[in-house]
Amino acid sequence: MLDSAPKFQRAQRIDGIEISQIVQIAEAAAQMRSEGHDIVSLSTGAPDFPTPDFVIQAAHQAALDGQTGYTATAGTNALRDAVAQEYGAQRANVLISTGAKQVLSGAMMATLNKGDEVIIPTPYWTTYSDIVTMAEGTPVTITCPMEQGFKLTPDALDQAITPKTRWVMLNTPSNPSGAIYTKDEIQALAKVLAKHPHVWVLTDEIYEHLSYVPFTSFTAAAPELADRTLIVSGVSKAWAMTGWRIGWGVGPEPLIRAMAAVQGQITSGTCSIAQAAALAALTGDRAVLAERLELFDSRRKLVVGGLNAMQGITCPEPDGAFYVFPNIEGLMQKGGFATCGEACDWLLAKAQVAIVPGAAFGLPGHARLSFAYSPEDLTKGLSRMAEAISKLR
Ligand code: PLP
Repeated sequence: MLDSAPKFQRAQRIDGIEISQIVQIAEAAAQMRSEGHDIVSLSTGAPDFPTPDFVIQAAHQAALDGQTGYTATAGTNALRDAVAQEYGAQRANVLISTGAKQVLSGAMMATLNKGDEVIIPTPYWTTYSDIVTMAEGTPVTITCPMEQGFKLTPDALDQAITPKTRWVMLNTPSNPSGAIYTKDEIQALAKVLAKHPHVWVLTDEIYEHLSYVPFTSFTAAAPELADRTLIVSGVSKAWAMTGWRIGWGVGPEPLIRAMAAVQGQITSGTCSIAQAAALAALTGDRAVLAERLELFDSRRKLVVGGLNAMQGITCPEPDGAFYVFPNIEGLMQKGGFATCGEACDWLLAKAQVAIVPGAAFGLPGHARLSFAYSPEDLTKGLSRMAEAISKLR
């Protein structure tokens, strides 16, 4: 009975995509590790740094002070105000959620009717298409190849818009490509969107503070679209707080109210102690972000240089986030691998290095490596890959 229910199948399909591509490679690596193999995993998107001490202390203090009950569904006033200040917005424009992921899914659940279309530039973070499908919308993917900097062009956007388009989902800096839209590029996209007032913009900027080139927020570049733009962000990546589960949405008040209503029936407000921690992060000293950015930058150079020295791999330098998304078609050809998944499986078996096939992000022929790992692990992983590849005929 349950097996044939459409919703259940959809949930399985969702699992199917994520588990087979990202979680499964991590699980395969963990399994091999438990069998005694020395595996280097470069597959996950969580910083290897700890949450800053002052943030942990603030959480401890909040718990001791009795901040242990439910908070308002949309978040504590203090945290909403701190987020609003970041974006020059008002408290009513801010929703605090259980990670940026809940902001994304809440926005889709609150707004999509069956069959509404959501434009997703590809490569995309795997979750995007899945949450659209879960909310009964239709993902409309647009391939944005490496030669295009993995970015959506105004023409491609214009051509993809139909009367059913509800959202375009941007991600800057991008997971998996690291691409960052410049102010001019955002303005060119905004010009197209100005012709289509029924289309809303979701701009996921969770990697904002991990930018190696100047970063421009969508709303800063296109304020004229603010009344139909939702910014999504949070503390998970820059402050190394993935486990605290705090994200936020900043957008027009009616949308924020609708998303809060959805959230109110799913989780209520998010964890009170984690909100106190996020408040400390946002209002505290940001020197730690600058220090870590510098470390990430040197890892970025290490990984890009190492990959480009391997035959069959072409790796552009990412402008942001902590991923590289090289083209591996040459390697696939050299090794006779029919898919990028096969090439990644081979690397896991032969080099004992776990990386994620590009197909998981909608762009086959590529692979994603995370450099949120120690320089020792990165160096070890790269040299193993280089050695295994050099032995291929
Ligand atoms: N958005 C992007 C682009 C991500 O890569 C991730 C995590 O990998 C998230 C959102 C999720 O953030 P959170 O952990 O705060 O839910």
